[in-house]
Amino acid sequence: MNQPHPSTEALPGLESLAAAPPSSPAPAGAGRPRVQPVDRSQLTWQMLDVERLIEPEHPARAIWELVGRLKLDGFYAPIEAVEGVAGRTPWDPRLLVSLWIYAYSRGISSAREIARRCTYEPAFQWLCGLGEINHHTLSDFRVDHDASLRELFVQVLGVLSAEGWVSLERVMHDGTRIKACAGADSFRREGRLQEHLEAARQQVEAMGDPRQEEPSRKGAAQERALRERKQRLEQALEEVQKVREAKREDKEQARASESDPQARIMKQSDGGYAPSYNVQLSTDAAHKIIVGTGVTQSGSDYGQLIGAVARVEANLGRKPCQVVVDGGFTTRENIMSMAEQRIDLVGSLAEVNQRIAGQKGKRGVSEAFYTDKFNYDEKEDVYLCPAGTVMKHHGRDFRLGVIFHQYRAPTGQCRACAFQSQCCPGNVHHGRSVIRAERAPALQQFAQRMQTEEGKAIYRQRGAVAEFPNAWIKEKLGLRQFRLRGLAKVLLEVLWAAMTYNIQQWIRLSWRPGLGAANN
Ligand code: SF4
Repeated sequence: MNQPHPSTEALPGLESLAAAPPSSPAPAGAGRPRVQPVDRSQLTWQMLDVERLIEPEHPARAIWELVGRLKLDGFYAPIEAVEGVAGRTPWDPRLLVSLWIYAYSRGISSAREIARRCTYEPAFQWLCGLGEINHHTLSDFRVDHDASLRELFVQVLGVLSAEGWVSLERVMHDGTRIKACAGADSFRREGRLQEHLEAARQQVEAMGDPRQEEPSRKGAAQERALRERKQRLEQALEEVQKVREAKREDKEQARASESDPQARIMKQSDGGYAPSYNVQLSTDAAHKIIVGTGVTQSGSDYGQLIGAVARVEANLGRKPCQVVVDGGFTTRENIMSMAEQRIDLVGSLAEVNQRIAGQKGKRGVSEAFYTDKFNYDEKEDVYLCPAGTVMKHHGRDFRLGVIFHQYRAPTGQCRACAFQSQCCPGNVHHGRSVIRAERAPALQQFAQRMQTEEGKAIYRQRGAVAEFPNAWIKEKLGLRQFRLRGLAKVLLEVLWAAMTYNIQQWIRLSWRPGLGAANN
């Protein structure tokens, strides 16, 4: 029955408006329009065919099928419940792995959100057979199986390799910064960390012995949070020491985050700075499969290539034939190491060139007196300056893979030279010098190859391949900021995301609905 709204009862003249259906003009001479009423007071039963909750080609089926083909022994091993014996029955690891991979593929990395979706979203309902999974079970599972998760990542690679999607003929390697679960304002210097730690210790002591009395659920959560905060502050103090040792300068400025002590402030692609981790991904160029992952606290990529190649070899049992990197990786150490391992390295020769180029731009030197305007006489092993002065060999500096030869003009001649103010305005006690780099054969070959059209063409492909998984993981999987804290857990998050990415590529390249029914 329609009852007049209380507010319209009090307004004379509005009763007829309140009774009429909205936006339904009554034709002249006809009765009121008849429409289907909405009845929300009913109780009803519905038939639900769980198998038909999702279509045959739904990716959740592909994930379930592939996970069913993998060995999950490491995940099953800790389960104490056995058939025929009473006790709580845990969820099947195959289901928990599938749920996490499907969730990541949808850009969901929150255990609470997965638990919620298991109650209403068809694909999640299909995966867990309408069961309801506690979010604690999900979040514990994500971080409790470190070794098994690594093994699982390798197994997925094994499937892709066996099906011919991984060749290791050419691997593109790159690093990308992903924000940590910490704010820039959570960084503190040692003194402030000590103060906060002392306060946290006093609060923990004031709580008393947790074994003496049974706290409420809320009280237990508060106690746990306080103890975790104390642990993080202790770790932050350790990290401050590491930062201090690594920086070597301005030691008083060393800081660490109270939220994620192992995070480091790193430069972002937009030019800003934020607490982050540097994620390293090696991608097989043939079908853009991630063949190796790593995470480092260093914002620089220089020291990451040798470890990355070792990880690819550990994952697939062989080294890449060729590795393509940007200038952030082409140190002499990396070039020499790749040559020793008989890996063809393609990239730009940034570091050596930098030192040579560095002489060009010395402050106050006119362009007419840049190093490239000095002529080297190979036969006499001398340089001739633009004024014709002979510059003799003055000394050498040995660095890994390179000998830096220095040539110097006589001090007197430079002092008397009309061009001194343009050529070496800062030199008071000695004449102008130039440096010639004599590279080791491996470095020479690398530099020569990068001068060829073939080398340049390969290098041009780098961005499209290496940055593809980076962009996918950030944009499609939503991993722009870690949800977990600490280097070890952040690496697990990267492994979940990289494995999800690879499985999505497997679905695109290989999976045909229905063919894997035998594995279900
Ligand atoms: S300043 Fe010395 S090195 Fe430079 S042009 Fe003159 S003589 Fe040559």
